[in-house]
This record gives sequence, structure tokens and C-alpha cells, in this order.
Amino acid sequence: MIPAPFEYERADSVDGAIQLLSVKDDAKILAGGHSLLPLMRLRLASPSMLVDITRIGELKYIREDGDRIAIGALTRHHDVANSELLQRVCPILPYAASKVGDPQVRHVGTIGGSVSHGDPAGDMPAVLLALGAEMTVRGPNGASRTVKADDFFRGLFEPDLASNEVLTEIRVPTTAGRGWSYLKFNRRAQDWALVGVAALASNGAPAAVTLTNMADRPMHASGVEEELAGGADPARAAERAAENTRPPSDAFASAEYRHELVKVLVRRALEEALRR
Ligand SMILES: Cc1cc2nc3c(=O)[nH]c(=O)nc-3n(C[C@H](O)[C@H](O)[C@H](O)COP(=O)(O)OP(=O)(O)OC[C@H]3O[C@@H](n4cnc5c(N)ncnc54)[C@H](O)[C@@H]3O)c2cc1C
Repeated sequence: MIPAPFEYERADSVDGAIQLLSVKDDAKILAGGHSLLPLMRLRLASPSMLVDITRIGELKYIREDGDRIAIGALTRHHDVANSELLQRVCPILPYAASKVGDPQVRHVGTIGGSVSHGDPAGDMPAVLLALGAEMTVRGPNGASRTVKADDFFRGLFEPDLASNEVLTEIRVPTTAGRGWSYLKFNRRAQDWALVGVAALASNGAPAAVTLTNMADRPMHASGVEEELAGGADPARAAERAAENTRPPSDAFASAEYRHELVKVLVRRALEEALRR
């Protein structure tokens, strides 16, 4: 279908984008457009204005910042996947980025777009949740705030972002010495995850296990994390993987199927993380 009519403005800076967003309540940022434009074509979204931020160079970077890695919101999945820095100090993130869609999608879609879209089936949100990432959000009058991943994903397509705010940066810790795994189960190589599991093994820190597409937002497998903290092995801990989940039933799999699948994937992810 053809999208409903909309105005188009290009922003040259973050503050310029915020000013434009403040003009119309239903204005939307255009980053890679790989989630927003399909929704507009289906008329599931009809913003009256698109604010194109793709030329804002200050939002494209991956750099060390103390004990964290700072990633600009406009960084493409391809650049996250191929970052030597991330591969060295936070390998789960580039690995997950390499599993997003296909090469065309990864060359255009951005990490900030994935996070801001808040799709529970997206690969990056669950991984960022496992990492304990922080989001930097800028609003009018230069106001800036930091939101933890645990608080950022508030519901289905519902990130903690006001209509005139821009996600500018995502910060992740280094994971040196921690085993990791991201298992994405899909029917064809480039499909979205039926279920995904991110696991970070402990090495001193509490183990983190998070789930893709098992609720209306990415979620911790809290029962599994509790078992691991108590010394359970992967098989035992994985038995609690479906606790408190509310997966969708759709054309690809029923909720019951996902409930069983997630237990298998959590066990495998933990075994892989502990081997690394
Ligand atoms: C064929 C296809 C297959 C795909 N497969 C996968 C997959 O397997 N796994 C996966 O995770 N994803 C997949 N995607 C989605 C892809 O990862 C998108 O790139 C991503 O979800 C959105 O990023 P974007 O930069 O394209 O954002 P856009 O589509 O431009 O924006 C998405 C939403 O976020 C808002 N937004 C964007 N940037 C910001 C910002 N900086 N601050 C505030 N709001 C912002 C927009 O206003 C919009 O509401 C696929 C997409 C396609 C088309």
C-alpha cells in the first residue's frame, strides 16, 4: 500500500530534530526507515511529519568511554556487527547484530531505531537488556537523561521516549572474561526470531539471561537467573525459562510451542556461554 500523505523535514543536528519534532505531536523520526516505513505502507502508522536524522554525523560512532562502550544511535547494524572494538570487548553485541535480517537490512537499519521501535521480536533489545545497557535520551532545551534498559522497554512498541525526544547514545559495559551466547531460533536464516535467548555467564557478576519475543517486551528469565545464582546447572535452571512469559501465537508458532522452545534454547545458550 501507499503511505498516507506526510510532510518531510531533514534535520542537521539533534537539537534541530527536537525542534522539528516539537512542531507536531505525531511527528516521527526517520532513521533507517526499516521498521517505520513498512508500518506506514500498511497504514498502521500515519505520522503527519517525518524528521529525517540520517545525515546527523554526530550520532554515528562506536568508542570507548571509561569502562563502557558508547554507541551512537545512528550506528548501522552492519557497523556494530563489524566493529573490532566490540568484537574484542563485548562480543555478544556484534554477534547479535550480525543476525539481524539480511545484509540489506543491516546496511540501513540502526541500533537506535531497533531500540526506539521497541519491538519485542527485535534481536538487539534483549541483548542490551542482558548487558544492562543505558540509553541516553535528549529532549527540548538541551535536557538529557539516562534510562537503564530495564526501565526503557515499557511495553509493546512502547519505549520510554516522549514524542519530542531523541535517543542519542547506547552505552554497554565490557564483558571481558564473561561467557556469552545469543541463540536466535528462526525457520529461515534471515527471518525474525521465533524465540531468542541472550546469556551472559557469571565470572563474578550475576548471570544474565534474557528473552526475545516471549512477551510484549524483551524480558529477563528471572527464574533461570535465580536458579543459576543458587548454583543450578543449565539443564535445571532452564526448566524455569517459560515462567512469567506471555509469547504470541502467530502464523509461525503457537504460544505453547514457544513455551517449550524457550526451555531448550535457554539450556543450549547457557551451555554455550559456559564453554566460552
Ligand atoms: C525485511 C526486514 C527484516 C528484518 N529483520 C529483522 C530481524 O531479524 N531482527 C531485528 O531485530 N530487526 C529486523 N528488522 C528491523 C530492523 O532491525 C530495523 O532496522 C530496526 O527495527 C529499526 O531501525 P531503523 O533504523 O530502520 O528505524 P526506523 O524504522 O527509522 O524507526 C523505527 C522507530 O524508531 C523511531 N526512532 C528511530 N531512531 C530514533 C532515535 N534515534 N530516537 C528516537 N526515536 C527513533 C522512529 O521514529 C520509529 O518510530 C528487519 C526489517 C526488515 C525490513
